[in-house]
This record gives sequence, structure tokens and C-alpha cells, in this order.
Amino acid sequence: MGVGNLGELGMMAGTATVEAAAAAGESPRGLDAAAAGLERINLLGLVMHALETQLLRWCERPFRARQLARWMHRSGAADFGAMTDLARSLRTVLSERAEIRAPQVLRRHHSADGTRKWLLDVGAGNAVEAVFIPEVDRGTLCVSTQAGCAVNCRFCATGKQGFGRNLAAHEIVAQLWLANRELGTAAGRGAGAVSNVVFMGMGEPLLNYDATLRALRIMLDDHGYGLSRRRVTVSTSGVVPMIDRLREDCPVALAVSLHAPNDALRDELVPLNRKYPLAELLAACRRYLERAPRDFITFEYVMIDGVNDGDAHARELLALVREVPCKFNLIPFNPFPGSGLRRSPARRVQAFATRLIDAGHVTTVRRTRGDDIEAACGQLAGEVQDRTRLHERNARSDRRTIGIAEVR
Ligand code: SF4
Repeated sequence: MGVGNLGELGMMAGTATVEAAAAAGESPRGLDAAAAGLERINLLGLVMHALETQLLRWCERPFRARQLARWMHRSGAADFGAMTDLARSLRTVLSERAEIRAPQVLRRHHSADGTRKWLLDVGAGNAVEAVFIPEVDRGTLCVSTQAGCAVNCRFCATGKQGFGRNLAAHEIVAQLWLANRELGTAAGRGAGAVSNVVFMGMGEPLLNYDATLRALRIMLDDHGYGLSRRRVTVSTSGVVPMIDRLREDCPVALAVSLHAPNDALRDELVPLNRKYPLAELLAACRRYLERAPRDFITFEYVMIDGVNDGDAHARELLALVREVPCKFNLIPFNPFPGSGLRRSPARRVQAFATRLIDAGHVTTVRRTRGDDIEAACGQLAGEVQDRTRLHERNARSDRRTIGIAEVR
């Protein structure tokens, strides 16, 4: 749910990317592979059984997969030559046929409050963001799953870009691999390490299901990053059938971008609601809780001035969720150019939160973090380039919307 300025990225790509890659000790994409005439396999995207299968294909013993995974995910290694407990013959095969490589970093930002952001080149003019948010008792990494997003939520800077492409599993895992390396916590341990991952960056993870699932499995694997299911959260705008699949395949913590207490308003704010309306979405949430690692769903609710932040909205919201154990995360809207929306005043957000709390719901108001680097995970504002003429389409739809049109 973040966004990068693709026009500027294009300008930077020829210079900054190579410098950044060199600074990070990464090899420029494909040079070695091109020289060898081979398409290398990026091992960051292989779950354990796929890694074992691949080693078998190379006539290696499958148990080596665990060693390799630990080097790669736990130690943050990229250089096969340094994996000294692997046989020299295996290191040679790996050097010729495989790679451990993150997308090139186009920009790095480091906020005064410790928040860090990486802007990553995923090719063909597409860029995605990963954001690390340190707190006293945890370090949360927000990862992207798509370049752009097709859901086109009204309040989201990423939605304004339109859809670029799905990320591959290795590109999702690479965001965690890279963050651990650059935070100096390659083993994922210690102060300042990534302890939690939220799939809440650019894109709708459940519309890139296979890659998301593989990335989740690698992050949870004891030989991978060893994160607990409670510490990994998938955030969805409400792709009902895939919520059910995730429940079966890999039930991690679930967050749902709700943002409206009724179908009429949610149809406007989250267009996917026209396909999967609230009754179906909440039923899926109840089913999910039967397998979830936490006994609640987190409902995210962007607070937009005069649109969804009134007392009546709060009452309606409470009635809506009465049969779903839940917490609320209120997110003051982050304005961006062309949105036509405004952030709810702080007193309104507080009044809304108080209503939810008084009704017995744990409710948090997301603190603004990394403002100086535009790092709000989910709605990174500012540098929006409208490559798909969505801006014009949205402008036309503005004239049809209720409530939103009243914002001055
Ligand atoms: S908020 Fe909506 S448009 Fe933005 S990334 Fe999430 S699903 Fe896509």
C-alpha cells in the first residue's frame, strides 16, 4: 500500500542503482548469469522442499538444503563461496546455477525516529517499498507483494498507480533478507531486528496468492526466518475466497482493511466490496478465526474527514462487527496529491476511538511514523505518478461519490 515515484526512479536507475548495489555488496543483475549463458535460480524464493528438490536435481543430498537455508536466511549470506561447511563441489554448482539476490535498492531513507525505508527496483519501471518501524518491544517490517495494485482504494496512493505486476516469492522474501542485512541483524535477533512482518505494503497479497503463500512459508520455517504465525500478519482488502484458502494453507494473523461501516460507503472507498460485500467478508473473518493463531481479527480503518469518521459511523461499525472478535486500528488518512480527501482532525479520531473502546474493543490509533521520509506503511503519499490514467478515472468517479464530494 505504498508508492514510489516511478518517473524519478527511471531517472535514477542508471546511476544510483549500480552505486547502491555496489555499496550493499550485491552483484549487478544477471552479469554472471549472462556470462555463463544460464538463467540462475534465485534461492530466496524456494521453500524447504523445493530447495531439497533442486539440490537433488543437481545430484546433491537434500539435507544440504537446511544448511543452505540457514546461511541464506539466518546469516544473510549471498556469497556461496563463504558457505564453508558446504562441499566445494556444491559451492561450485551453486555459483554457476543459482543466486541469492534482492532487487536493487534505488533509495534508502532513514527517519529521525528510526523508521527506515527501501525503494526497490523490480524492473520495467516498477518499484516497491519495504518499511521497517522500530518500537520498544518489537521491530516491524512492512513488505510489498505487488508493484502497484488493481484494487484502487480511494484513499490509497498505491491504488492511484494502477497495477504493475505481481512480485515473485523471492522478491517478497528479499525485502526481509535485505532489511536484516542492512539493519545489521542478519540473524534476525537482538535489538533493532525484525521481529514482526506485516504484508501491508504495496499490493493486495491475496491477489498474488501463490507467491505470498511461499513467502509466508519461508518466513515461518525454522530453517528460514523462524517467525511465529502470531508475528506475521497478512492484510487484505477482503478477497473472500482467498481468506478461506489462507485459513487452510497457512493461517497467520489477519488484518482486514475495513474503512467503512456499510456497503454503500465501502463500495466507494474499497471497490472490491462490490464483489465481496461486508456480510460475506465478515462471515469469512469468522471462519478464519477457527484456525487463526490469534483470537481476533484486526480491522483497519482509515479516518477520513467528513467521510467515515462520524458518531453514526462508529455506531454502525460496532453493530457490524458484533459477531466478530476484533481489534481496531485507526489510521489517520495520509493526504496525497489528487486524493481529494483530508485527514480527520485529531479530536474526531479520538472521539471515534473512545466510542469503540467504550464498547469493549481494543483500539489503537496508528502513530504517524517516518513522516520525514513518507514512510507510512499502507499509504505512502507524495510521489505518485499516474501511469494508467487512473487519476482521470478517479476524478470522474469523484463526481458520482457521496460524502467524498463534500470534502473541500
Ligand atoms: S489499500 Fe487498496 S489500493 Fe492500496 S494497496 Fe491496499 S488493496 Fe491496494
